[in-house]
Amino acid sequence: MENFWQTPTEVEEDLAEAVRGSRTIGAHKDLVLHGGGNSSIKSTITDPTGRSVQVVYVKGSGWDMATIEPRGFVPLRISRLHELLEVENISDTELVNELRCAMTNAKSPDPSIESLLHALLPHRAVLHSHADAIISLSNQPDPEQLVRQVYGDTVVVVPYVMPGFDLARVCNEIWPEQATDITKGMVLLNHGLFTFGESMEEAYALHIRLISEAETFLTARGPTLKRHSAVVTPSAQQIVALRKSLSDHAKRPLIVSHAADDAISSFVTQSALSNLCNGPATPDHIIRTKQLPLVGEAVSGREVAEYVAEYIKYFERNRHRSRDSLSMLDPTPRYILDSKHGMYSVGKTKKDADIVFDIVSHTFKIITDANAVGTYTSLPEGDLFDIEYWELEQAKLLLGASSPELSGQIAIVTGAASGIGRACAEVLMSLGASVVGIDISASVVGMFEGPQWLGLCADVCDRAALDLALEQTALTFGGLDILVLAAGVFGQSSPISDLEASSWDRTIEVNFNAAQRLLTASHPLLKNSPVGGKVVLIGTKNVAAPGPGAAAYSTSKAALIQLGRVAALEWAADGIRVNFVHPDAVFDTGLWTPELLAERAAKYEMTVDEYKHRNLLSTEVTSNKVAQMVGTMCTDVFSATTGAQVPVDGGNERVI
Ligand code: ZN
Repeated sequence: MENFWQTPTEVEEDLAEAVRGSRTIGAHKDLVLHGGGNSSIKSTITDPTGRSVQVVYVKGSGWDMATIEPRGFVPLRISRLHELLEVENISDTELVNELRCAMTNAKSPDPSIESLLHALLPHRAVLHSHADAIISLSNQPDPEQLVRQVYGDTVVVVPYVMPGFDLARVCNEIWPEQATDITKGMVLLNHGLFTFGESMEEAYALHIRLISEAETFLTARGPTLKRHSAVVTPSAQQIVALRKSLSDHAKRPLIVSHAADDAISSFVTQSALSNLCNGPATPDHIIRTKQLPLVGEAVSGREVAEYVAEYIKYFERNRHRSRDSLSMLDPTPRYILDSKHGMYSVGKTKKDADIVFDIVSHTFKIITDANAVGTYTSLPEGDLFDIEYWELEQAKLLLGASSPELSGQIAIVTGAASGIGRACAEVLMSLGASVVGIDISASVVGMFEGPQWLGLCADVCDRAALDLALEQTALTFGGLDILVLAAGVFGQSSPISDLEASSWDRTIEVNFNAAQRLLTASHPLLKNSPVGGKVVLIGTKNVAAPGPGAAAYSTSKAALIQLGRVAALEWAADGIRVNFVHPDAVFDTGLWTPELLAERAAKYEMTVDEYKHRNLLSTEVTSNKVAQMVGTMCTDVFSATTGAQVPVDGGNERVI
């Protein structure tokens, strides 16, 4: 393992040094993932009374090692932490309270539950990771033997104990027994590695050194995986059926993300896959991955139901372990290993599913390396259950972390690169939906950042491209719940007597024919939505109140609405709602340049501002106002409404 330490050019303050050490560890994905690991530095501060106070700055809960900032560290009075180490027994809820009371800055976040452990180590700088190589050595039937084979007496070895107060107490006993002048680190079996020193540079160097020794040991014995058979990409229909089953059991819509890269294909086609994956690599992963994956071939709803039944039994078997009455977590698997199709990661959001993917990808390597030197053996289910149903995690559940209304739902928006389409994509994402934006403009690809956005550059008139977009939607997110058709062209502005056939045809093709094809192709996916499909068609004021000179536009939109009304009739039995918005005079779109606006306003002898407010309510109609209506139509506010046509035009006498 490479040492990435960068020596600072000037002498650093303690906190800056802690940040540097943590971020350097955080940059290695095979050391810490998604909030794992922690760090600390000891220091002296002067309090307002003028007294010197010995503190330990410990990583705050919820901060990521890779991106932590100085305010992510919590200053705690070391003397108080040493007093707490003498207590016989204390619950983790009480411990969190005591740790908060030991802070010297009331605004700090909750300190890591491992703060006592950091305080008891005598060194100034401490780093802790869940390094893959250490886990491969220590997830074994006899882990201490292997760890000693690699490190001899240069490390303190601590058997598995649940993180928190119990672990700190055990370390407090073992440390004085085992630590010597040659101690380089402390291995927590089935958990991870601590190193320490008088500086972060020293602690980091020891971390890299110990992990490199483990890697050398593993690679000397490690065979590479060979793929046993090819995996095939599942069809969109197979994926949406799987997502529906998972979501029905979870009682909420879930994101299901497919992957089948080389490493995954090699892993899922191993024989005796269920035996290989006998539990998470480190106990903290269980919150993300659950104890076990669903393993099968061409997995369907039947296997999901069997998994759920097993999970309920596991919960019933272990619930007595807690003193409190427990609420069962969502019983569906967080990842599925499918020997025919690859892997699916599952989450309430795409971000959650991606975190599962990252963790599982590392777990594959850990298992393979562990089996090269022994037999990968996760913790017994009781220990894992204790973490999954840890009182601190249950407390968070009881607080009911609410998610946005469309969380876990998946939308397609056409014409998403500008104007109303773009605003719809933005509003749907703000409501929690994952959105696939389709547009002929390539700018759609990078329009928004983050895992809940997938921009696809495609012409809505290209059937093959639309089929591909639907397939990508299913592979990336797992299905389709919301379809917003906003792509459209205005076409040639001329009287019917001068209409050119090509302009007419193009307008009808984009605004009507392409919409029909996407509606038809989307129906099988929308029908399988676990929450009922929603379609919103963007019409125009011109449907109810056409004007001269826009025959192709008005006709194509009127035809689109008629098509949608029939869809509302035909698809109600499938639980799919079809509603319509009719915007007018939306000027913040790509169609309207400042020059064009000025020209039109002048034509009516108005200022641009007067022209923009030319409606009964004298209000400006923006893309966002239209999008807010579209977003609302996709929420439960409209759960009893289909076939509704709502104007968003500031009020128009001819429409009313
Ligand atoms: Zn840890």
